[in-house]
Amino acid sequence: MDLRRLILGLTLCSALLPFANTFYAGYTVQRQQLIDTTQDSNAAYARKLAKSTDDFLQSALQQLAYTAKLLAEHMEDEHQLMEEATRLRLQTQSFNSVTIYNPLGTVLATSPETLQIKGRTLTSTAVQDSLRTQGPVISQAFMSTAGNLIIFLSQPIFSAQGDYLGAVGGSIYLKQESMLDKLLGEHFYEDGSYLYVVDKAKRIIYHPQSQRVGDTVTGNQAIDQAVSGHSGRIAITNSQGVPMLAGYAFVPSAGWGIVAQRPQSATLAPLDALMRTMLYKTLPLTVLLLLLIWWGARRIAQPLRQLANGAHTMDRPETAQTIQSVQSWYYEAQELKKAMLVGLGLLHKNITKLRQDVHTDPLTGLGNRRHLDTALASFAANRTPFAVLAIDIDHFKRVNDSFGHDVGDTVLKHLALQMRDVSRIDDLPCRVGGEEFVILLPGAPRHIAAQVAERLRLLVESTELPNVGHITISQGVSSWPDGSSDMPTVFKQADNMLYAAKRAGRNRVKVFTPGRKVAETV
Ligand code: GH3
Ligand code: MG
Ligand code: MG
Repeated sequence: MDLRRLILGLTLCSALLPFANTFYAGYTVQRQQLIDTTQDSNAAYARKLAKSTDDFLQSALQQLAYTAKLLAEHMEDEHQLMEEATRLRLQTQSFNSVTIYNPLGTVLATSPETLQIKGRTLTSTAVQDSLRTQGPVISQAFMSTAGNLIIFLSQPIFSAQGDYLGAVGGSIYLKQESMLDKLLGEHFYEDGSYLYVVDKAKRIIYHPQSQRVGDTVTGNQAIDQAVSGHSGRIAITNSQGVPMLAGYAFVPSAGWGIVAQRPQSATLAPLDALMRTMLYKTLPLTVLLLLLIWWGARRIAQPLRQLANGAHTMDRPETAQTIQSVQSWYYEAQELKKAMLVGLGLLHKNITKLRQDVHTDPLTGLGNRRHLDTALASFAANRTPFAVLAIDIDHFKRVNDSFGHDVGDTVLKHLALQMRDVSRIDDLPCRVGGEEFVILLPGAPRHIAAQVAERLRLLVESTELPNVGHITISQGVSSWPDGSSDMPTVFKQADNMLYAAKRAGRNRVKVFTPGRKVAETV
């Protein structure tokens, strides 16, 4: 996981989560609102139609009552009965058929006459109920004598003396065009919503799909609630398993229930389209925002990543340059860059110092043996000719013995300074042992080296050291490659010359000359 991914992840989360949340919240709120509105309007609609249906049934009963009153004086007049039955059917258009029957249930007149039931005795529960109660009746749905599924309404006929003379009944055909169809069917919606009516026995007496008329519906909560006298709203699943948003109401005069419902999917369909539109409209800006976030994350992470890469390769010489080129455009990156550059500088300084220390003799500050070896390796590689001076202090033990080791050390330091004095910039004065020194003179021929040695000898000899007085040195000189092509041999030669100088009485320079047995004394 790197910083760029972290920033990217974090900003994406903080940008997309609220967006998704708003989207989701908007969806659920609107969805609930749509469901509520649909259910409320269905409930209102069911109530309104229940009222209309109730009004219709009441007025149909009143029409029958009027006819019953008219006929009380004419029950013997067959022609009159026929005329009134026809008038009632055609004028009011409330009924598909009208029947007048006597207290035994025998049909006295009927309209239309095509029913051909005149003289027959009616045995249906509805007719029997009307004869038994001698009162008004609104029946449940049933199959009539003429073979129609009907609702039957009737009013009793009484004489002026109050004798029961029979009844006049009107039928509404449920499977054919009827007043009920007109009343309920004209409000059939295009958007998938519809309504249906059940009687007390939960038998469908009106349904937009006429083949369903006559079916008895069980297990439908809307119907159960409506026929038990309630009005309200409910979400149900219909007999085809489709979720429906329903409103229901009770028809008091008949005990019927009316259910108005609409598939939930039809209600929510515009919402899906709305959400899609919203998504499409917000998409360009979202994509732009994402690109911006991606670009921003890159911009922020880049300097830190470059610095981190630099931190990996601190030991490489080009790293300082790489870090220097990092575009640290904000505070933290800038401070990190500064700190790294300072750190890198210190590191390189320390390394250089360490390298120097490793090659330096701590007492005199001259090069040590390692320094000498490194120089020799470089001369060998570059084929650089050089001369070598081997230097040893005469009777140095005595200095130590007489004045102490510390004074001896001061003498050594002093000699080191003088060695530097006589050396050129390219020469390498080194301390290779306790009081044994060497000067390498690159490019110097033997006779020049001998002159340098003599100059040093004279300088040392003529210098009065505080407390100590005068000291002297002996020196041996040889050169590479003319002394020998083998470097150790050349050093051996210089050493030999040094001891030759000691033997010859000290405070002198002896130069190795190839081919000569006796060393040359300067
Ligand atoms: P010679 O003329 O033969 O060289 O006599 P010498 O006394 O100088 O003999 P030699 O070169 O063998 O002496 C080495 C002495 O140098 C021994 C020791 O006391 C002294 N010495 C070696 N290293 C140091 C040092 O680091 N500091 C001091 N003060 N003395 C040292
Ligand atoms: Mg010595
Ligand atoms: Mg000595």
